[in-house]
Amino acid sequence: MAAPKEDNLKKIIGHSKEYGFVFQSSEIYDGLSAVYDYGQMGAELKRNIKDYWWTAMVQMNENIVGLDSSIFMHPTTWKASGHVDAFNDPLIDNKDSKKRYRADVLIEDHVEKYRLKIKKEVAKGFKRFGDDFNEEEFLKTNPNVKRNQDKIDDINGRFKTAMDADDLAGIKTLIEDLGIVCPISGSKNWTDVKQFNLMFATEIGSVADSANTIYLRPETAQGIFVNFLNVQKTGRMKIPFGIAQIGKAFRNEIVARQFIFRMREFEQMEMQFFVRPGEEMKWYEHWKEQRINWHKSLGIPQEKYRYHDHIKLAHYANAASDIEFDFPMGFKELEGIHSRTDFDLKQHEEFSGKKLQYFDPEVNKNYVPYVVETSVGLDRTFLAILSSAYTEEKLENGTERTVLKLPAMLAPYKAAVMPLTRKDGLPEKAREILNELKFDFNCQYDEKDSPGKRYRRQDAIGTPFSIMVDHQTLEDNTCLLYTSPSPRDS
Ligand code: ATP
Repeated sequence: MAAPKEDNLKKIIGHSKEYGFVFQSSEIYDGLSAVYDYGQMGAELKRNIKDYWWTAMVQMNENIVGLDSSIFMHPTTWKASGHVDAFNDPLIDNKDSKKRYRADVLIEDHVEKYRLKIKKEVAKGFKRFGDDFNEEEFLKTNPNVKRNQDKIDDINGRFKTAMDADDLAGIKTLIEDLGIVCPISGSKNWTDVKQFNLMFATEIGSVADSANTIYLRPETAQGIFVNFLNVQKTGRMKIPFGIAQIGKAFRNEIVARQFIFRMREFEQMEMQFFVRPGEEMKWYEHWKEQRINWHKSLGIPQEKYRYHDHIKLAHYANAASDIEFDFPMGFKELEGIHSRTDFDLKQHEEFSGKKLQYFDPEVNKNYVPYVVETSVGLDRTFLAILSSAYTEEKLENGTERTVLKLPAMLAPYKAAVMPLTRKDGLPEKAREILNELKFDFNCQYDEKDSPGKRYRRQDAIGTPFSIMVDHQTLEDNTCLLYTSPSPRDS
């Protein structure tokens, strides 16, 4: 029987620590909540994911260029973007467990239960009708599916109405009406819902004064918007074009207990695509498709991904969809694709008093471009890749091994070079090979323990190739090349 999903997350956390992928931050001081450090393997994997994204977005698209803007920005940036007034999450506390939750997440999780019921009905249908099963028709006509779908629509409708009206009491009533209980205490003893701003504030300069308050950026996007004209003019960019950036973002998350899925300091890989007003929906659809294809190119099974179109749109968007991934804790957001209209650029024009417009020679007009954003969490991509790569295998001889089935282009080490023994000149020969390879590939030299143990170690960190140097190598310059997972079991 397959292990429960939560156990899988625990195993992945354990494996990450044991092999140097991810450590709790400041562990010797008992850690800092929702902050993590990437170890020697994690830093490599993360760097490879960044490169893979950068190549796909910047190198492969001649109309997309990169940017590396600062974490600190003028404080008016965040007034203009709406983050000071509206970057809030609705929080609710359970009075018995004293645990804090995001009210919207409690409702989302409740809705997910009805989605699962629909999924089960569909599975039953498949079983009963086999090849004749028409899923589309079934979803429209089956009474059990319809009943559950009506419930989902009703809850989503009530939630959207309450959020749009900033009706926090209405959200609490919805939680009560749905009978949602605290997963820890099991009680319905809830506080009122409050809004909580997620930005971290600090002071710039040596005088502590409210005029010196600045924020750690909660998204990298604003650095792109305020540089829009700098890049467009100096790069002679023509619309449509994109600006891509990878960088840290900071959010004082209310609920932060899902490993690197939700952190207070994390990294985003974002691209803002500037388009002619009125053409944003075409590009929104384009980028939705391009981005899911990028994820699928990582070799992870298709059914691990799904779209989730937003019902409550952020203050800046006229369409938004998430690419969700089937993480060990269920389907959750991995990437957001947002049609951000001209909201940000217009706001920055208004607050800065500077024009942020583009002259379009094709239509002979000045305008503020519309923007389609793709925003993916680097750490969530890391977790998605790690969790689908993690495999426990039972071998025919009864032993077990753990294999990280990483795509080779993302593997921390591309090859391990191993001398069969530590004598007879084999280490020297192995180092010779390593020294040739290391100009092109990140490789590891490994001579400790038996070959079997060494193969296992490489399997566990996802190294696709192992090169074994033996006495034959000294004679004719040939060596044994193993691909992971290694079939050898010595
Ligand atoms: P969520 O609803 O899960 O809080 P969000 O909708 O606020 O996410 P966005 O503002 O769209 O997220 O940010 C874009 C991407 O940045 C997300 O899809 C996610 O991959 C990543 N991200 C956002 N918040 C975090 C976080 N606290 N830790 C790690 N990654 C994050």
